[in-house]
Amino acid sequence: KPVCLIVLGMAGSGKTTFVQRLTVYLHSKKTPPYVINLDPAVHEVPFPANIGMLLYGLGPNGGIVTSLNLFATRFDQVMKFIEKKQSNHQYVLIDTPGQIEVFTWSASGTIITEALASSFPCVVIYVMDTSRSVNPVTFMSNMLYACSILYKTKLPFIVAMNKTDIIDHSFAVEWMQDFEVFQDALNQETSYVSNLTRSMSLVLDEFYTNLRVVGVSAVTGSGLDELFVQVADAAKEYETEYRPEYERLH
Ligand code: GDP
Ligand code: MG
Repeated sequence: KPVCLIVLGMAGSGKTTFVQRLTVYLHSKKTPPYVINLDPAVHEVPFPANIGMLLYGLGPNGGIVTSLNLFATRFDQVMKFIEKKQSNHQYVLIDTPGQIEVFTWSASGTIITEALASSFPCVVIYVMDTSRSVNPVTFMSNMLYACSILYKTKLPFIVAMNKTDIIDHSFAVEWMQDFEVFQDALNQETSYVSNLTRSMSLVLDEFYTNLRVVGVSAVTGSGLDELFVQVADAAKEYETEYRPEYERLH
């Protein structure tokens, strides 16, 4: 069965560019993916999506939420498409709307995620703009968002620290591994927000422990070999953790 990679992240984090880079990468590895484009703002891509909102005539003017709702109501058809094609594709890539909350906190986003996860191994890839996370408070809010998505979907999770062509992600990894280093960075700010962040970071420590993190660049393609090592590991986690729980509940 193909592994579904659901790509989430803040607007501008680079999801669409990342999905396009993955598509090129997987073509070069002779494992072309099946691409589902749920971002109606995407027009021209080097490898067109197999299925997407534009195909349904739900273009950028349709209103993102309305488009996603309509797409969700027809998602059984999308599932049939994937099932029919599953022997041809090792991966299914899902690009999501620019505004993350449209997907993660809407009924439609939930319907789509659960439909996919009930039939295929699914992995969430949370794309983060590393260059815009150099401020510890911004970094923290990004991680809190990632954490909330993990707990909502309960799916295996990978954080893709994107745009490493602009800045190396090692500072962020260090913040996650060493609480003291993060505190030092925070201490350069004295505000209510930084105090709040200090308390939050203690909570996030648990979240960080088992988190898969990979530095990537959607522009240069660096880090993708490492990413797919993590994807294989996450897909295994789907089979051992998510799948048995799903079957217990249904
Ligand atoms: P989305 O809203 O998450 O789909 O983000 P986009 O893929 O549309 O990218 C937002 C902006 O970030 C665009 O200007 C991209 O060219 C840029 N971008 C995306 N990935 C990278 C990257 O790895 N490196 C750099 N330097 N820019 C990137
Ligand atoms: Mg996009």
